[in-house]
Amino acid sequence: MPSTPGWRRRPLLAGNWKLNPLTAAAAVELAEGIRAAAGTQDQVDVKVYPPFTWLLPVADRLAGGPVGLGAQDCFWEPSGAYTGEISAQMLSGWCPSVILGHSERRQYQGETDEQVSRKAAAALAAGLEAIVCVGERAEQHDAGETEPVVAGQVRGSLAGVVADDSPRLVVAYEPVWAIGTGRNADPEHAYRTMRLVRQTVAELIGEGAAQRVRVLYGGSVNAANVESYVELPECDGCLVGGASLKADEFSAMIASTAAVYGAVAQ
Ligand code: PEP
Repeated sequence: MPSTPGWRRRPLLAGNWKLNPLTAAAAVELAEGIRAAAGTQDQVDVKVYPPFTWLLPVADRLAGGPVGLGAQDCFWEPSGAYTGEISAQMLSGWCPSVILGHSERRQYQGETDEQVSRKAAAALAAGLEAIVCVGERAEQHDAGETEPVVAGQVRGSLAGVVADDSPRLVVAYEPVWAIGTGRNADPEHAYRTMRLVRQTVAELIGEGAAQRVRVLYGGSVNAANVESYVELPECDGCLVGGASLKADEFSAMIASTAAVYGAVAQ
């Protein structure tokens, strides 16, 4: 595995809160803890992704500070008779980032690559940053199918993306078997697959544009193992679930990532 290059894309630690916490007060308290930690460094972009209901109170508390805000999903149509949906236009202007195609939405809502690609195109056209998630399931991993599965998801989920979108495009490689299981991927496996992600993005939008896309690792990342991912040359940060719900632990992850990047910058 090559060593960390002397230049890096700016890293991103994205906290996916999923269906947590249960009250607005708890969401605001968590946001405040993360804001305090993020403000002690300037090496790392830190963003949180609360449930839709807590976006407004959390946005209010994060205003003017170093922590960015995002939503966990959006719909591809701008408006209309789509009960329960929230459009990219509704988010744009105040909630600048969105996670799309998370494996839990692919599993429980049956989202397909084609639907994810429509959402990504809509989000990017509305001016949002799109974090598009890909990753193989356990049986695909065990059958040695990681590379064709992930490359296929990247092609299908980014079908509508163009080179000009690259500064606002993030791809999160999240092996499904590593999400919420405590079984984080071996960094060598993560490195090879993130490199494949970027190569596949380059086929779609060109090598130069692909170099501007941030590629994240996600899957049971915590304070003890975050360094082993963010030091990888192809890794531009992490998408974090469970550990982002604990302000102390997420703060430690911010500090570790900042230390890795601070060392690279010197
Ligand atoms: C996620 O939800 O994207 C995730 C990576 O979860 P966890 O960190 O809990 O594995």
